[in-house]
Amino acid sequence: MKAARLYGVEDIRIEDIAVPEIAEDEVLIKVKASFICGTDVRFYKNGSPSDQPLVAGHEIAGVVEKVGSRVGGYKPGMRVGVAPNYGCGVCDLCTSGNSHMCKESKALGVTVDGGFAEYMRVPAPAVAQGNITELEETISFEEAALAEPLSCVYNAYEKIGIYPGDHVLVVGAGPIGLMHLRVAFLAGAAKVYVTDLSEERLALAKELIPEVITIPSGELDEAVKKYTDGRLMDLIITAASVPVIQETAFKYVGLNGRVMFFGGLPKGKSVVGLDTNEIHYKQLTVAGTTRQSLRQYRTCLKLIASGRLKVSDLVTASAPLDKINDIIANVAAGKGLKSVITI
Ligand SMILES: [Zn+2]
Ligand SMILES: [Zn+2]
Repeated sequence: MKAARLYGVEDIRIEDIAVPEIAEDEVLIKVKASFICGTDVRFYKNGSPSDQPLVAGHEIAGVVEKVGSRVGGYKPGMRVGVAPNYGCGVCDLCTSGNSHMCKESKALGVTVDGGFAEYMRVPAPAVAQGNITELEETISFEEAALAEPLSCVYNAYEKIGIYPGDHVLVVGAGPIGLMHLRVAFLAGAAKVYVTDLSEERLALAKELIPEVITIPSGELDEAVKKYTDGRLMDLIITAASVPVIQETAFKYVGLNGRVMFFGGLPKGKSVVGLDTNEIHYKQLTVAGTTRQSLRQYRTCLKLIASGRLKVSDLVTASAPLDKINDIIANVAAGKGLKSVITI
């Protein structure tokens, strides 16, 4: 089979390798769609933290090709989405539905081979934990693969809450920022705002989500006061990996407001100066989230399949596996929104 294997910094090779063998408690997936994520770009630029060569790609959907003799519930030909994170299966975190936070947590496309290949082996613990989900007829492979990043966003929503009538500001108009905007509208926010350094990205956000209010970053101070009559935001979500965004977030949030640090910061840049009196005197709630639980992943598949939350228009580029180097370079240069490898 063809596979894109990461050997090191900016070194992805398209190779012909054997189709993975599966054990009796494993499943083989024929990959149909696998999106490029910021994590894949980081691996491309810095190498992966796990053993190389690595088949990256953790936003995956496909068809069940082969099912181990001891696996129930799946059959060949079934259309499925595959959630990447799985745990040991027995610790308190795993048994409480937080396998993504298990100390032994592993992830397809991150610590074991993932979706940038024609076929992917789903290891036994991931099969047993239910990482493979049958798709409804109303969801495409591409939409299903986007349930992975959407469920990261949904995790943040569940943690920090978005309530009817809220004024919500999202910092960063990339694909993740746009997903936060859509979730905020769905949750009943009164006004939803987005800011970004890139005029181009703001224009695209407005085109895809006309009801959003776009604010160029240079005008943020006045705009936030003006739009909220001086009360400031109920919630700010940082969806960009920039330290200064976290440092300044508190000043745009009003009394009893909330702050979600969604985008992690680059290694070595995560110690930032925060005015903690803003938290104290404004009674702010500050939270962070990472990845998603399986429950959240499955909820997002349902949300997309129901048509209540659109993600298909976030796909701005599509290419076959052998063009992966070009397409990753484009994503790294900030071009477009979501780019998919179709297999
Ligand atoms: Zn991702
Ligand atoms: Zn565990």
